[in-house]
Formats: sequence, structure tokens, C-alpha cells
Amino acid sequence: MMFSAKQRMEITEEMSKTTYDVLVIGGGITGCGIALDATTRGMKTALIEMQDFAAGTSSRSTKLVHGGLRYLKQFEVKMVAEVGKERAIVYENGPHVTTPEWMLLPIHRGGTFGKWSTSIGLWVYDHLARVKKEERRTMLSAHETLQKEPLIKQDGLLGGGYYVEYRTDDARLTIEVIKKAVECGAHAVNYVKAESFLYDENGRINGVTCREETTGKTFTIYAKKIVNAAGPWVDILREKDGSQVGKKLRLTKGVHIVVDQAHFPLKQAVYFDTPDGRMVFAIPREGKTYVGTTDTFYDGDRVHPKMTRDDRDYLLRAIRYMFPSVHLTEQHIESSWAGLRPLIYEEGKDPSEISRKDEVWQSPSGLITIAGGKLTGYRKMAETVVDLIAKQLGGTYPPCQTKHLPISGGDVGGASRWHTFMAEKIAEGMACGLTEQQAKRLVQRYGTNVDRLFAFASTYNRKETALPIDWYAMCLYALECEMTVTPLDFFIRRTGALFFDIHAVRQLKEAVVTLMQSYFHWTEEERNKYEQQVNAALHDAVIPCDEAQR
Ligand SMILES: Cc1cc2nc3c(=O)[nH]c(=O)nc-3n(C[C@H](O)[C@H](O)[C@H](O)COP(=O)(O)OP(=O)(O)OC[C@H]3O[C@@H](n4cnc5c(N)ncnc54)[C@H](O)[C@@H]3O)c2cc1C
Repeated sequence: MMFSAKQRMEITEEMSKTTYDVLVIGGGITGCGIALDATTRGMKTALIEMQDFAAGTSSRSTKLVHGGLRYLKQFEVKMVAEVGKERAIVYENGPHVTTPEWMLLPIHRGGTFGKWSTSIGLWVYDHLARVKKEERRTMLSAHETLQKEPLIKQDGLLGGGYYVEYRTDDARLTIEVIKKAVECGAHAVNYVKAESFLYDENGRINGVTCREETTGKTFTIYAKKIVNAAGPWVDILREKDGSQVGKKLRLTKGVHIVVDQAHFPLKQAVYFDTPDGRMVFAIPREGKTYVGTTDTFYDGDRVHPKMTRDDRDYLLRAIRYMFPSVHLTEQHIESSWAGLRPLIYEEGKDPSEISRKDEVWQSPSGLITIAGGKLTGYRKMAETVVDLIAKQLGGTYPPCQTKHLPISGGDVGGASRWHTFMAEKIAEGMACGLTEQQAKRLVQRYGTNVDRLFAFASTYNRKETALPIDWYAMCLYALECEMTVTPLDFFIRRTGALFFDIHAVRQLKEAVVTLMQSYFHWTEEERNKYEQQVNAALHDAVIPCDEAQR
């Protein structure tokens, strides 16, 4: 399998010499899902991503594999049913990146959901999504609700709904999907941008001119079918194809903030009302609590959406409203992230009212564009697109193969074996010199791929690196097996540390850059550039973009 950072040039060379059945543009969850589906049906498949994998929206979500309960209010029954059912499949195929998480929906007098509507809504939700019996919703009294989460506002509390969702790491999910696609034969590379399209004599699209972003070198890739899975950028590519007509995207921005559990000791994930009638999640994770999201129309820079003071203050107000005993100020915010929803424009609707449905569009040249959708529904979206491609390519391609296909790291023999697997592997990790806690974290994060990490851990020599043994193993694995090109790829999308362990980023950034410098033979100038990138990201995670200057 070619997926090491050092093989990128070899991969691009191979790409420029091959004619593919399918070329996917965009390495977010949508594009990676399509690459996996296409390659497992026997199509010769390539994928290019202009930044890092998942650097667009797919590392900036609420990180839930969920059916979207609130969409029931908009009567999007079909979407909720389909996406809801997908939750269990995503979990089964990747138990290391998906964890069941009980969600509490407090019901207050005058709130969005009443007691009966919550009870019926959650019942419908469970049945639409065919949730297993032991995971079906229960309704709680006010007292039981407070037992689950004592921080919830008592004033006007009528009770609560208690139901199951799944928590994920969106970027790691995306990376595990593309690793599986590569393992099955796809060619995929990051930091390669589709610049313009190529057409045959009949005006049919048949290739892409691309630019390798680290060297500036351009090359061409030819393919019978080209898929535009560029998320918030899909309209830019449609414009290049001359097919930007009819429906288009409207971007909305969503911000999350992260606070240490010492200041916001939330025990239980909560989905709650805000003063302006929207709903927001507060989720405990890795010793932190994260809260989001906002939802506002956005026309700014797509690559670097950022938190503003208004976003921050909105979320702090929401916390104050539902958790009155929690006294947070901006000083308590440890980290944040902002993402852009690539929604399909609907005239006259507010950001939160616009449908999250996905749609597939085809241009006269044959460019296939997939827009909208959710992280959770990625597999079904891929199936729809690849069914269409299979029909157009002719030949005898089998139906979708991914329903029972574990993603990379997920092949533990079924999700029900996950806990046994963890226990066995933690013991092995400890035999390689890791503490129990370190071993557990690696097993949880990497699933069956953890053997490679243990192998790296066994070569650890504390005289050669300032990194602790687990970080050393993660860094080498990220370079050798997950095409990590920059320190930020590692700190954001391979480990999520910039969001949930920002102190470790501050502490370890120099050691990571040093390890990467010797791995890639960076000049001092390159090293400085990457160090500055990390420092800028550390700054932007905490300080709103319209506040203090750097
Ligand atoms: C705040 C927020 C919260 C959300 N929460 C959830 C949630 O909890 N659960 C859920 O299921 N969904 C959630 N979503 C939705 C979900 O995150 C998105 O639907 C999904 O990530 C979109 O993935 P994508 O692959 O279509 O887009 P992206 O992840 O943006 O991927 C598109 C990629 O295309 C690349 N690209 C663009 N142009 C080019 C080019 N010319 N050449 C090469 N590459 C290119 C970009 O760099 C980008 O990486 C949320 C979204 C937001 C914004």
C-alpha cells in the first residue's frame, strides 16, 4: 500500500501515467467515501486533495455520527431514517473511531420540545433508524434529568429525553476511509489541487490539470469519470467547467469552543435550547467539554474560517442560559474550530432551516458533482454516486460493497468484540514499554493498526527525541502510514490535539517539528515556516479573528 508521506512523488507520477475509471476531486469524507466505494467495485480509482485529507469541513464538524433529530421538526423523515440507520453501520465498520454516546435532551417549560413531542419524536427517531432495543430512548423526570446532569438549569425543568447517538473523530474517520480505499487499490494524494479540466473532441470531460502544492509542479490526470466532491468549493469547480447554473451552494459557518472539565465539569452529553430558539450540543470528551455550534451565513475565506467575538459570545451565552451555575468567561476557552456547511441554497430560509440533504448534479460535459449531505451519510452518498458511474461506464460492476466492509483499523471481528480486543491489545502495548493509559489511548485511536504503532514504540530511544514514547509512535505512524506532510496535519487531523490537548501541542511542537525535519530533510527556512504555521493555529484557536492582533 502506498500511503507514506515519502511516496507522494511516486504516487503523482503513477497518476500522471494512468487512465482511471474514476477521478475524485476532494479528500473530505464525501470524496474518500466515493473512492472506497468505487475501488471496491473494481474501478480504477484516484483521489486528489488540495490541502490535507479532511482539512475542509470534515475535520470541523460537531463530531457526531447522528441522525439529526432536529430535522424531524422539518419533516425530513426520509433523510433522518436513512442517516439514522447509517449510524449503526458506521459503528460496526469502525468501532475504534465511533463510540455510542447517550444524549440528554432537557425539556423546559416554553422550550423547543415539549414532553410529549420529545417522547413521540424520539420514538419515531428510534424506529426510523431501527435502533436496537437496549439503545431505545427513555423519558426522564426532572429529578432523573438532574441526576444525569446536575449542571442543567432547574428553573422550569419538566424532564428529559435520553437517547443514543455516536461520537466520532471526523478527521480520523475520513483518514481511515481513505486508507482502506488505498489498501484496496485506489491511488490517493494530498496537497494536489485540480486547477482546470481537460475535454475530448466532443466536449466531454476526461481529465484534470493539477498542481502539486509543495513543489508547484503541474501534471495531468486522465479519467473516464470525474467526480467533484469539493465540499464548500464545489461551485468553484463547476464554474471552471462552465456549468455553474441552476442550484448552487450557500455556506454557513459553525463554531465550537473547548473548555477544560475543571471549569465546565459536564458529566453527560446534552443537546439543549439556546435563548434564540436554536439547539446546541455540549459534549464531554478527553477531559474537556466542547460546545457548538453556531450557524451563520458565510462569504469569507473558505480555507481558514475562524471564530469571531460574536461566535464566542453566543456560545458563552448559551452555556450560561442552560448551565447557570457554570461561570465561564473568554479566558476559559482553551481551543475552538470553525467549519463551513456546504448547503444547497434555498431562497428565503434561515441558516438553520436549510435542508442538509445531499444532491448529485451532472453537467453537460459529464462532470458529476455531489453537494450537501452529512458526515454520517457518507457511505450512502458514495453508493448513489458510484451506482451512477457504474451505469454510465457500462460493464459489469457489482453493487455497493461497503456495508459490511471494515474501514482501516476497524477489523476487530465486529463491534461487539471491541472491548475484548482492547483488553488484549493494551496488554501487548504495555509489553512494548507503554503505560496502561498510553497503550489504551493508542488502541482506542488506531484499532487494529495499533500493531504498527507498537512496533514504532519498540524502537523508541529517549536520548534521540524529546517526545514521549506514545507521541513518538503516533508521529512515525502518521508519517509512514498516513501521509502526514506538515506538523499541523499531525496536530489537527491525525491526533485532534489542537482541539482536545492544546497544552500538549504547546509542549511538544518543537520536538515534533524536529522529528519531521530530520525525516523530510527540511532546511531551516522550511522548519521556520512550519513552526510559524503551528504558532498561528495555536493563536487562532483561542483568540477571535476580530480581536487582538498576532
Ligand atoms: C459546524 C459543523 C458541524 C457539523 N456536524 C456534523 C455532525 O456532527 N455529524 C455529521 O454527520 N455531519 C456534520 N456536519 C456536516 C459534515 O461535516 C459535512 O457534511 C462533511 O464533512 C462534508 O464533507 P465533504 O467531503 O463534502 O466536504 P469537505 O470535508 O470540505 O471536503 C472537500 C475537500 O475538497 C478539497 N478541494 C476543494 N477544491 C479542490 C480542488 N480544486 N482540488 C483538490 N481538492 C479540492 C478541499 O480542500 C476539501 O478538503 C457538520 C458541518 C459543520 C460545518
